[in-house]
Amino acid sequence: MATAPTSFDIQQVLFQLGIKPVNLGTSTGIERFSTGELFDSYSPVNGQLIAKVYATTAADYEQVMEAATEAFTFFRTVPAPKRGEMVRLFGDKLRKNKEALGKLVSYEMGKSLQEGYGEVQEMIDICDFAVGLSRQLHGLTMHSERPSHRMYEQYHPLGVVGIISAFNFPVAVWAWNTALAWICGDVCVWKPSEKTPLCGVACQNIIREVIQENDLPEGISCLINGDYKVGEMMSQDSRIPLLSATGSTRMGKSVAQTVAARLGKTLLELGGNNAIIVTPEADLKMTIIGAVFGAVGTAGQRCTSTRRLIVHESMYDKVKHALIDAYKQLRIGNPLDENNHVGPIIDKDSVAQYLQTLDAVVAEGGKLLIPGGVLSGEGYESGCYVQPAIAEVENAYAIVQKETFAPILYLIKYNGDLPNAIALQNGVVQGLSSAIMTNNLREAELFLSTLGSDCGIANVNIGTSGAEIGGAFGGEKETGGGRESGSDAWKVYMRRQTNTINYSSSLPLAQGIKFDLN
Ligand code: NAD
Repeated sequence: MATAPTSFDIQQVLFQLGIKPVNLGTSTGIERFSTGELFDSYSPVNGQLIAKVYATTAADYEQVMEAATEAFTFFRTVPAPKRGEMVRLFGDKLRKNKEALGKLVSYEMGKSLQEGYGEVQEMIDICDFAVGLSRQLHGLTMHSERPSHRMYEQYHPLGVVGIISAFNFPVAVWAWNTALAWICGDVCVWKPSEKTPLCGVACQNIIREVIQENDLPEGISCLINGDYKVGEMMSQDSRIPLLSATGSTRMGKSVAQTVAARLGKTLLELGGNNAIIVTPEADLKMTIIGAVFGAVGTAGQRCTSTRRLIVHESMYDKVKHALIDAYKQLRIGNPLDENNHVGPIIDKDSVAQYLQTLDAVVAEGGKLLIPGGVLSGEGYESGCYVQPAIAEVENAYAIVQKETFAPILYLIKYNGDLPNAIALQNGVVQGLSSAIMTNNLREAELFLSTLGSDCGIANVNIGTSGAEIGGAFGGEKETGGGRESGSDAWKVYMRRQTNTINYSSSLPLAQGIKFDLN
């Protein structure tokens, strides 16, 4: 039975965030409207309807794009540090709303309250990062091969940046994109997941206050709502030079093709199939903590969740038994109760996919060590609570090659040397996050070398899940190749220009070419 939920007054949270029983899902920053169909947002925590949102129609979308395009003509002329000041003010508003927004994230998406707060903290952190960066949008200067010439690179804003986000990080992914895009001088149009529309409405209400209080142009932060059809409007729209899309590989392939057909740019953050390699020299205690948190945290619904544990034969039985013991201690229930380790998954479709995956594992010859299943009874009325499962499998199984967005951990044995484990780790189509547990320096360095992990993220003695905003975040292969957040990810949101200035009184051509005129 689930433990008693920690109660908070959801009505109070919705009131603070300006969410009504029925919400206009389209906004140009200050103005709010929508003429599309109403759709519902249910909480996976208890199955209750939270509120309704109007979807964005094609006509609404046109209005938004006109406002955004207009706002860009002004916003690009605002000095970058001043744009940073706007992001600073936004970060301050987020601090004031951290508790309420964190609770809404937890209630609408189903992640634990601590993770809900943590997600808002990530928004605050990226704002701080972006404020500093607004004074550091540096280009290079180079020596010209021609005398009395100077050459340099500078970065200019791109225009309207489209953001499509997934349900599992319903607020942070928008902030990762938008805080950087704003300091770069871009304006943003955001379509949140149709599974978490209220988080989008709440964020828009927060930035709306910043826009209003500071006389910023309407159109710098726009919201649209609805399902994939609204996302497709963005993919097809040549007024959007950069479309940042976070979600499944299936979605990313569709977005990439449509945007490429109009020679637009994409920033894709897609599915992962993340593994931890456990070598004979791993610390068992650290391994188990890293693996269990990675596999069951956010109920296995992080893009960086640990899906595969690739364990050396000499450690295999020890790891297996320790994992089974740890899983027996997991408390599954209301994610608002901090005593619980595992909350619900997002909806019943997702539950169905989880069950189909477990069937497919068995059909391919896998063995379920912890068989999983859907929980029922008091506290589990939403039908979205599942038992985290562990299966012994081969890496080559078709089902293991796929990402199932649920708490299923695959246990895979490797024999011999580390390159065998690395081959298994890299032997999937996705390339987001990876980790090795070892106290052996040679093993760690090999894993990080060019012969090692092929993922965008490679960790030593840390699990696969979670990332700090200071590093560039993203993955290779079918994860899409995009990089968001820290390091020099800002460059994606700008166009690069090479400038050559001739301060001589003649016009020498490059490469010594002569072109004499009488
Ligand atoms: P999803 O692909 O179903 O939906 C994501 C978003 O894309 C939604 O807003 C949806 O409306 C939109 N969309 C769907 N099809 C579209 C199309 N054809 N054109 C335009 N927009 C479209 O994903 P989800 O179920 O919300 O999220 C889970 C997935 O997201 C997992 O695969 C997870 O790994 C991935 N994810 C990746 C990262 C990352 O940084 N790599 C981060 C979070 C989530």
